[in-house]
Amino acid sequence: MFERSRMRPRPGWRRTLGWVGLAAGGWVLYQAARPILREFRPANPRIARHLRERYMERARCVVAVTAHPDDLEILCGGTLRRLVLGGARVVAVVASDGEDQNSRANLAHIRHAEQCAAARVLGYHDVRFLGFPGRELERSEGLDAAVERILEEEAPDLIMAFDATHPAWLLVHPDHIAVGRAVVNAVVRQRGPRAGGQGMPEVLLYGTSDPDVLIDIRDAMQDKVRALVQHRSQLRGPERLYAPLLRMYGRITGFAGGLEYAEKFRRLHLGRPEAGQG
Ligand SMILES: [Zn+2]
Repeated sequence: MFERSRMRPRPGWRRTLGWVGLAAGGWVLYQAARPILREFRPANPRIARHLRERYMERARCVVAVTAHPDDLEILCGGTLRRLVLGGARVVAVVASDGEDQNSRANLAHIRHAEQCAAARVLGYHDVRFLGFPGRELERSEGLDAAVERILEEEAPDLIMAFDATHPAWLLVHPDHIAVGRAVVNAVVRQRGPRAGGQGMPEVLLYGTSDPDVLIDIRDAMQDKVRALVQHRSQLRGPERLYAPLLRMYGRITGFAGGLEYAEKFRRLHLGRPEAGQG
């Protein structure tokens, strides 16, 4: 009896060691994912959810500015669709023709056509292409002035832009930061002539790691998927993968606010240090 127990492996110990290894691996993975998970949790989900109506119901003219074709559809396409359905005029502003425009001679033409097709799906009233070279927006002279001119022409009451100061971890890109900054700078400069900031537009920043507004996009989810797949030259892998991926992203975003699908934003508070960055 004694001899047998000494010869046999000790499955109890091995199993315990296995569980300990698994738990340690899980802990390491959780720690690695924590900063990303935190990006989906507004400090106050109830307020974040409640605030959505303030933007959805009041906005009459919306200008959404972005760096590349497809950014808007991924990060705030559902919200833009809801604004269109609510009767707002929505103008998309696309600063560049894409990140790799030197790789194909007619890429700009293709990306324009795809962006316009996505705009038709979501019902944008206009798409303005600024024509700056991709991957070089931070060095592009005239970006701030071009953005400012469009804001002056459209006089929107809601502006949407990339969050340049609190970007989501996976979305940090020099072009995104440059365009986000250009919009905030333009808004700050335009605040000057308006006494005390009265009548200033609201600014919602998408692609943020510090959300305080969640917009319910359940009714726009299908259109958001249809819009994204119009960007065929940018799709990686089969088109049918994009619906489940976008839905999963929407579910994770809405989870903290008890919404089936959501998009997240941070309100820009003019007067804080980020307003007026260089
Ligand atoms: Zn982009």
